[in-house]
Amino acid sequence: MAKDYEKVWNTCLEIIRDNVSSQSFKTWFEPIKPVKLQGHTLTIQVPSQFFYEWLEEHYATLLKKTLRKELGTEGKFEYSIVMENAYSGSKPYTVKMPATNKKEVKNPSVQMPLDISSKPIKNPFIIPGLKSVNVESQLNPNYSFDTFVEGDCNRLARSAGFAVANKPGGTAFNPLFIYGGVGLGKTHLAHAIGIDIKKNFPGKTVLYVSSEKFCHQFIDSVKNNNQNDFIHFYQMIDVLIIDDVQFFAGKDKTQDVFFHVFNHLHQIGKQLVLTADKPPVEMQGIEQRLLSRFKWGLSADLQAPDLETRIAILEKKIYNDGIELPKEVVEYLAYSITTNIRELEGALISLIAQASLNRKAITLDLARQMIDKFVKNTAREVSIDYIQKVVCDYFDLPIELLKSKTRKREVVQARQIAMFFAKSMTKSSLATIGMHCGGKDHATVLHACKTVNNLIETDKRFKLYIEELEKKISIQ
Ligand code: ADP
Ligand code: MG
Repeated sequence: MAKDYEKVWNTCLEIIRDNVSSQSFKTWFEPIKPVKLQGHTLTIQVPSQFFYEWLEEHYATLLKKTLRKELGTEGKFEYSIVMENAYSGSKPYTVKMPATNKKEVKNPSVQMPLDISSKPIKNPFIIPGLKSVNVESQLNPNYSFDTFVEGDCNRLARSAGFAVANKPGGTAFNPLFIYGGVGLGKTHLAHAIGIDIKKNFPGKTVLYVSSEKFCHQFIDSVKNNNQNDFIHFYQMIDVLIIDDVQFFAGKDKTQDVFFHVFNHLHQIGKQLVLTADKPPVEMQGIEQRLLSRFKWGLSADLQAPDLETRIAILEKKIYNDGIELPKEVVEYLAYSITTNIRELEGALISLIAQASLNRKAITLDLARQMIDKFVKNTAREVSIDYIQKVVCDYFDLPIELLKSKTRKREVVQARQIAMFFAKSMTKSSLATIGMHCGGKDHATVLHACKTVNNLIETDKRFKLYIEELEKKISIQ
């Protein structure tokens, strides 16, 4: 008698056969072997990574629907992929992959109150001459609730996000304001909320946008004289997710237009989700009327994860990538990198890359060697504040002057030098550097870097200053 999993798979095959061409059926479905059935998960073995990707890309929906017919709504696939073992020429091995669920973040078409004038419309969302516009939600399907590990560090934010996703615009959490340090999951959680809303309410128009993009779109709309289109566009979104609103600091016009969009959406019960690096009370450079609105709903923070959560995050990532790692290695990683989930993931990826490049097994020793390098490297990264302090000590200037707008000659030069080092020694954007150095714009920072480079080439004494300063900044 056929085993359960074979029976289930054979019935699926019958349905699939009726829905694809016989050529496709032969090529893509006959080679699949059912392996096991556990609960509602049917594991199927496919002959290669490419094969798996092809199936997921072209037949994910068909496969999912077919299996659900057989096993009910909870039915899902897990793939077992036969990998060619390129390293040792020994036996092929298999990796596990859960089936993905990537098709659910599309928005329906929406009607735009478009006033088609003779001017070309530059708003990237608007197609001239069309009233029905497809708004891309800009959501990353990998950043879902499924892949977001819950821990004490994120419990409030996660459950508030969940509540919002179940009742967008209908909870007291409007706006939902998520804040926390770098790499702690703000962007991930923001996407997860959007993805879940698309799943629960496919008819709602969801838009994820970074504050930086919002700002640039606004500036473009001013240039192209279609600010109204810009505002209309944002006013018809059902769920607006804006990431990193601290970027609005000092940008009064953008804040102004965002204020109007915010009010309009809030008044008609649309949902806003905002993220920032600080709670509203500590934000600087943002207008009071906006800050007070940020506090209307719920502010929830993301903290650095504890050890247990870090291990769970690594394990989830490893599972999703279809990799197996010794438990001691996972624990070592989780012990060593404590403050930032992005760095934790970075260490894991480097480790996997190293192991596969050098064709070594991933052992605790390899992890140790790598982490030592990795942790040192990250410690060596300097901050703009630190650079400013060293430069000011060197020239014996108070740091407040450097951060002020003064144009005194000696301050201007020290400021330029600080900008020059900030550009070459940190990953900060020109705009961020400018903001820290007396509220200058990115063009001023670029100009400063050029000036310093010119002086290094033409002025020997200046070059000496720079070399000495560079040493001082590098030795922390
Ligand atoms: P932020 O926006 O706060 O700087 P991100 O959302 O970009 O941080 O998160 C950094 C990385 O860490 C992302 O790859 C994200 O998927 C991962 N991450 C953060 N929080 C979690 C979590 N709770 N579970 C799983 N992965 C997480
Ligand atoms: Mg982010």
